[in-house]
Amino acid sequence: MDTIECRRCQGPRPALAKAPFRNERGERIQREICQTCWSEWLEHQTLLINHYGLDPREPDARKFLYSQIDQVLLGDEEPQQVDTSKKGSVEW
Ligand SMILES: [Zn+2]
Repeated sequence: MDTIECRRCQGPRPALAKAPFRNERGERIQREICQTCWSEWLEHQTLLINHYGLDPREPDARKFLYSQIDQVLLGDEEPQQVDTSKKGSVEW
């Protein structure tokens, strides 16, 4: 298994077995983000989807999630805290 210097947790960690997307962003994640951080991201993404009532099949929703990946996972910004106090008030 490949080991990478994970951008997020800074450690030499196991890389993802394969890129999560078939594009440049996916390859970058595989090079820079470890398995642990990626699975944490997926949990965070589920929170975002629930919080904003997103449908990941919708192009706009995917665009939003990709921009979150770019900012939070691959960018240098601090992760934004999701306001979970509004959880449950999202209308479908
Ligand atoms: Zn990591």
